[in-house]
Amino acid sequence: MAPPVPSPVPLVDAHAHLADPSFDPDREEVLARARAAGVARVVTVGETVEDARRILELARRHPEIAPAIGLYPTVLDRDALAEIVALARERRDDLVALGEVGLDRWKVQDPTERELQRELFLAQVDLALELDLPLNVHSRSAGKYAIEALAERGARRVLLHAFDARPATARRGLEAGFFFSIPPSIVRSPQKRKLAALVPLDRLLLETDSPVLGPDRETRNEPANLLVVLDELAAIKGVPREEIARATTENARRLFGPAILP
Ligand SMILES: [Zn+2]
Repeated sequence: MAPPVPSPVPLVDAHAHLADPSFDPDREEVLARARAAGVARVVTVGETVEDARRILELARRHPEIAPAIGLYPTVLDRDALAEIVALARERRDDLVALGEVGLDRWKVQDPTERELQRELFLAQVDLALELDLPLNVHSRSAGKYAIEALAERGARRVLLHAFDARPATARRGLEAGFFFSIPPSIVRSPQKRKLAALVPLDRLLLETDSPVLGPDRETRNEPANLLVVLDELAAIKGVPREEIARATTENARRLFGPAILP
């Protein structure tokens, strides 16, 4: 197979888990391959307090890593929330977003736990508004609920990552002004292809969600695979890949702020 053609425009991976232990043996090489592909920044999201500290530490050593911290929707812990709030306030200027936060009605089905999940999500939405940071949002089997909660709180700077809801629900996200990011698993997902066709180019971002959601299920995903998304979106939108690259990077600047690509 021919090596992938690097992007002519610097790209932003809007959602990846580079603090994941699966990258510990070769994080340098993974970032080198990202750079070679044209991926200039990787928004690295956290799931726990421990992750948050790790990401802030990693970002000091790797300028490509753009840090985001937050509690994942399955972490149902008020003490952890208090720590994330304190850390985000203290390190606000080092952060590009809060995330990965959100709702997950697939993994959390107990009504009491769902209520706590919503409480922790709303607290982090409020924190993002207080700190004027965008939100990197997970909404598995919960697209409608997440969009309603975000709109109710008045959140504007929102990225709905790997969105899995129906087109009608995606339209509500568009009406609220939110962005959508598309992962490399689009090549094996008719739902993601439909979503990419529906969302206008001025609302699309590229993501990998590394180490998961790669082009094939068995292989560890990495930020260089952003090129897979770039090529697929070019095919779906029927425009040159340069145009997709330029638009998605411009959208990343609008969402995360100009500092995302210094
Ligand atoms: Zn994720």
